[in-house]
Amino acid sequence: ILVARDLTKTFSSRGFSVPAVRQASLALFPGQTLGLIGESGSGKSTLARLILGLESPDSGTVDLQGSRWVPAPESTRRPNRHRLAAIFQDPLSTFDPRLSAAQILAEAHSGGRSIHAAAFASEISASLDAVGLPQSVRSRRPLELSGGQRQRLSIARALAQNPDILVCDEPVSALDLTVQARVLDLLDGLQRERRLSLLFISHDLDVIRHVSDTVAVMRDGVIREAGPTERVFDSPEDEYTRALLADTA
Ligand code: ATP
Ligand code: MG
Repeated sequence: ILVARDLTKTFSSRGFSVPAVRQASLALFPGQTLGLIGESGSGKSTLARLILGLESPDSGTVDLQGSRWVPAPESTRRPNRHRLAAIFQDPLSTFDPRLSAAQILAEAHSGGRSIHAAAFASEISASLDAVGLPQSVRSRRPLELSGGQRQRLSIARALAQNPDILVCDEPVSALDLTVQARVLDLLDGLQRERRLSLLFISHDLDVIRHVSDTVAVMRDGVIREAGPTERVFDSPEDEYTRALLADTA
């Protein structure tokens, strides 16, 4: 459903060049979860942002449901754009702080137009139900929600786009453990219900092992190893993967 080919991205900051992602290729299959692991700074978020078109690569392409695309933030020609949605570790920065939860969801349901929440009252109600938020949060602004509620709202917003693929960059890392488990359960249920494909980034190996069908291991911008989750965890072929998994075992 999604294939990234040879994506490369080098940042330059203060005269240094940082190769964040090097010739990275990934394949995500329909209805499956691809876990992406790797140490801090290994390039996971940059790769996700390239796939989402929030960053343009130096080279490489993304095939989305059969259409090839060179990611670029300014590109209006991106095929199947709405088919790809994302949630991030810190959803707060992705919300307009002045909008109520209902307005945020109304905009998502209308495809990004600023629209009166009343026009989408029943969709908003269903969206809140789907992620287990009470109807009473409708009038609240992002800052007036708890961390778990905020992440649920960001999931509801992503689902309102009716995506086929959901990119999750550390979606539960900022939440406490019981809330983590609930949000993971929620994602799991939604995935089954809607046959979503997930690209799931986490540094928590237990979480990755639990949620992923296949897993890719990244180090210094390079995908070192990729394969079925059990195979990678039980008999890693790559030396670095072995060390990474042993460290935390
Ligand atoms: P973490 O697990 O900490 O989230 P990550 O695997 O997501 O790490 P990235 O955020 O993709 O890592 O960063 C990869 C590398 O690219 C790092 O060395 C980082 O400093 C660098 N980098 C990321 N974004 C930028 C940017 N906008 N400008 C310059 N360098 C950047
Ligand atoms: Mg990251």
